[in-house]
This record gives sequence, structure tokens and C-alpha cells, in this order.
Amino acid sequence: MTEKDKRAFETIVAEAGSIKDGANPVSQPIYLSACYRHPDLRQAITFDRLRGYTYSRVEAPNRKVVEETLATLEEGCQGFAVASGMAAIQLVLSILHTGDELVSLDDLYGGDFRYFRHVESHYGVIFKQWDGRKVADLVKLLNEKTRIVWLETPSNPTMKKLDIQQIAAAVHAYNKDIIVAVDNTFYTPYYQKPLTEGADVVIHSATKYLGGHNDILGGIVVVKDEKLADDYFQFTITVGDTMSNFDAWLLTRSLKTLPLRMKQHAASAKKIAKFLETAPHVEKVLYPGKAGMISFYLDSEAEVERVLNSVKVITFAESLGGAESLITIPYYQTHDDVEADQRVRLGITTKLLRLSVGLEDPDDLIADLRQALGD
Ligand SMILES: *Cc1c(COP(=O)(O)O)cnc(C)c1O
Repeated sequence: MTEKDKRAFETIVAEAGSIKDGANPVSQPIYLSACYRHPDLRQAITFDRLRGYTYSRVEAPNRKVVEETLATLEEGCQGFAVASGMAAIQLVLSILHTGDELVSLDDLYGGDFRYFRHVESHYGVIFKQWDGRKVADLVKLLNEKTRIVWLETPSNPTMKKLDIQQIAAAVHAYNKDIIVAVDNTFYTPYYQKPLTEGADVVIHSATKYLGGHNDILGGIVVVKDEKLADDYFQFTITVGDTMSNFDAWLLTRSLKTLPLRMKQHAASAKKIAKFLETAPHVEKVLYPGKAGMISFYLDSEAEVERVLNSVKVITFAESLGGAESLITIPYYQTHDDVEADQRVRLGITTKLLRLSVGLEDPDDLIADLRQALGD
């Protein structure tokens, strides 16, 4: 896509998958076909990403709808739908060679660090971290070997926000070829479009808000540059981490309600954050102002255990962004892979809980928290 789609976000997602071929279905059918008939020999022997369907590892109709819809929403040139958020991260890093450097924020989803360390120890990529404070300090970490700068905002679970525009401008002023990648899982394109702020690549764990129902795993990568799109296409069809048509169909269906869901998550989260500010045993509340993620510190580990063991409407489980409210303790769960001293430095302590506010009535959620907090 070269031109910006002028339709509203709500219209783009409502129309996703409404195709105008075959029996003219309003909802796109799920294509359970591993391969596709070649129209002629020429198509069969063309190896470019725009040749049409051949084999579903390479391209598939339901996946294509998801990829085109996300590319439109994020205002990029091409989207890739893969098997999980981690597969999306792997895809972005697939362009690295031995000796290349990767600089990341030090406050990311825990799995990122596990994968970045793997790439460092197995492939000889040099991995550096930035504390997210001064952009000048980030620039000091760059050199002629730097290929990717990796950001996440708001950060998980401590909700620190970054100025993508300022960071991307500083990195590109140093070297315009450095890829600035942003994990947009927490805000989604409904609240934040990193590519329009100067980033080069945006990724999502589609398992979270994009999927929105705690029923699929998925990952999305959207890029701005055609050459990068070609490199990523070659990698993903080679390793075969692509999203299945069934999951892509579920994801398309979910995207149609993304604007409605995000508005409700945010309205409920605001109300709950306000309740938590003055609730007993709550020492501090972290809410970034949009979407439905809230982290909060309790005054003792005993209280943490009590809350996790006694919530009833809210479920003690390790994910986010779905219709069902989930609560987790990042120190032991999502961030177990981060070094213990780094967790403490970032504020990820044994007294910090992370709540994903779902789509239940916010007053029921508040009543549940109130009883769990022993009030
Ligand atoms: C969950 C998550 C991931 C990893 O995604 P999976 O779908 O679990 O592989 C990456 N980034 C963020 C911010 C996440 O919350």
C-alpha cells in the first residue's frame, strides 16, 4: 500500500475480509487448503511475494486479510502474520549478521531478553541495553555496527512511556539505515502508530489486544520499507512460522471489535485505577492513561498472595488484552527471564501485580478487588 487509507479505523476493520469473489460472502470463509492451483506455468515459477497463492506456508487468503488490514492500520507497506509474538520478534531480528549490534530498552517483555541473549550467544550478535532515560545516552551506544534499536512503549509491566518521535529522529540522524523497531502490543494502532512517528518496524503479540479473546497465539510485523519487506518475506516463508488460516480468520473477526474493545478497556481501567489509588494495602498505581493495563504495588508479599488466591471475577493467569480480566505477578511469571538485580532496578518486585482489565462490568471488577484486598 502506497497511499494512506482515508477511511476511519472503525470502517477499515469492519470491512476486513469482506471479499468480492466466488459466492460473494460477507464474512470471508476459512480456507483449509494447504496448496493452491497454479493458473499457469509462469506463476508457478515466479518467486516474488506478489505472485498470488501457491502453498500456504508462502501465502494464504485469511492470513493475507490480516496482513493487509494491519499494514493499513499501522500505515506501513506490508504486514506479516506469524505464529506468536515471539515469532514476530525473531522475524525482525532475522536480518542480523554476526558482529551486528542490537540496542534495546532495558525494560521489555521478559521473552525478548531470552531471545536477545540467544542471538548473542549463538550468532555472535552484540546486544546492548539502554535505560530509557536520556536519548543522548542511547545515541552513545550506537556505532557503525548497530542495525536495530528495539523499543517497547508503554513498557511491560512498569508502564514507562517513550517519545518514539524524538528517539527515532535521534537514531536516524546518527544513521538513517538503523532500524527502529517498536513493540506496540500494549497500545495497538488504535492508540499509537509508531511508523507515523518515525519508527521503521512495528510488532505485536496478536495474542493480546489484537486477538482480544484469550483464544489464539499470534504475532504481527509491519514494515515501512519494501526492501525490508522482501527480506522478511524470504525469512518467514523459509522457516515456516506463518499464522494458520484458522487463526487468521479468528484474528480478522477480533479486529472488527478492536476499537470498541479498546474504548471499553480504557474506560474501565481508568475507573479501576482510581479505585486502587485509595484502596487498602495498595502503595502505588501505574496506569499509562490509555488501554487496559494497570500495575500496582501492594504493601506486603502476604497481601500479594492473598489477592492472587482470592480473586474470583478476575483470573490469576499469565496473559493480557482479552475479554477476561487477568492478574499476574511479573516478577515470577512474565519477567522470570530478566536478571534478578535488573528486575529490582526496573521496579519489578515481588510486591508488584499486573492487571489486564477485561470487558466485565468495572463495578464487578472493583468489588472483586475490594474483597480480595480484604476490605
Ligand atoms: C506477550 C508479549 C510478547 C510475546 O508474545 P507471544 O504471543 O506470547 O509470543 C511480546 N511483547 C509483549 C509486549 C507481550 O506482552
